[in-house]
Amino acid sequence: METELEQYQYTVRRPAHCTGTGLHSGKKVRLAIHPAPADSGISFVRTDLPRQPMIPARFDQVGDTTLATTLGEGHARIATVEHLMAALSGLGIDNARITVDSPEIPIMDGSAWPFVEALRKVGRSRQQVLRKYLRITKPIEYTANGKSVRAEPSRGFQISCSIQFDAALIQQQHYSSTINRKTFIKDIAKARTFGYVEQVEELWKKGLALGGSLDNVIAIHWNRRTILNEGGLRYKDEFIRHKMLDIIGDAALAGTPIIGHIIADRSGHSLHREFLQTLFAQPDCWEYVTLHDTTH
Ligand SMILES: [Zn+2]
Repeated sequence: METELEQYQYTVRRPAHCTGTGLHSGKKVRLAIHPAPADSGISFVRTDLPRQPMIPARFDQVGDTTLATTLGEGHARIATVEHLMAALSGLGIDNARITVDSPEIPIMDGSAWPFVEALRKVGRSRQQVLRKYLRITKPIEYTANGKSVRAEPSRGFQISCSIQFDAALIQQQHYSSTINRKTFIKDIAKARTFGYVEQVEELWKKGLALGGSLDNVIAIHWNRRTILNEGGLRYKDEFIRHKMLDIIGDAALAGTPIIGHIIADRSGHSLHREFLQTLFAQPDCWEYVTLHDTTH
């Protein structure tokens, strides 16, 4: 099995820019992904706030997890980070300082693809410091209400996940893959977020998801067999692939790439955070490693 683990850390070669709509505010959001020093990780800087607070992209900064993953530092917060985090992780970018002029990352087309395109356009540059991986050494599991996230030792970064919905269009879906640049770009990055059409309407009534539209969410028809989006699905099983995307984005909040097999059963953003909390509270189940030679 090709694992494609890389030895060194990477950052972006030059700043990458994205402009889009905030899912909740419906307002225009501008963000830029800047190069950052080795070992600094991913961080967000709110340029619209006084003193431009910095929010590290780590699981222990996660606050709200309804609808999306929101990070917070003091009074500053940044919402809907998961698809951008997935793009950075999927493309193997360890360090970046992301400036954003809004409390939320733009939803773009509901997938990670526009971020992937922006990042590939600028390219990445290798840094002089070895990448640190969190390697799972013993199985560890977090379960709540019959839903679970588990990690097991593995040679590379693997994810298996399952979802279950009543909608005839989705029902039970399962997906399992080794995640590397190639599989991420080809199989996962374009999968969009989804919801039932009446859920979207309910959010609008509450003044939420004002930026939500058929341009950035797959809306499942009341009949539960079709979607409202005219272009149809991008993959036959786009729903489960989007779940893979969310898991990759939330797993990136571990702060370093993971060597292990993550097995998620009907998980969501809050379960992902709780799993990472459990993982970091059990240091006998993992270790930090670098790949000195090319022996792995
Ligand atoms: Zn998502």
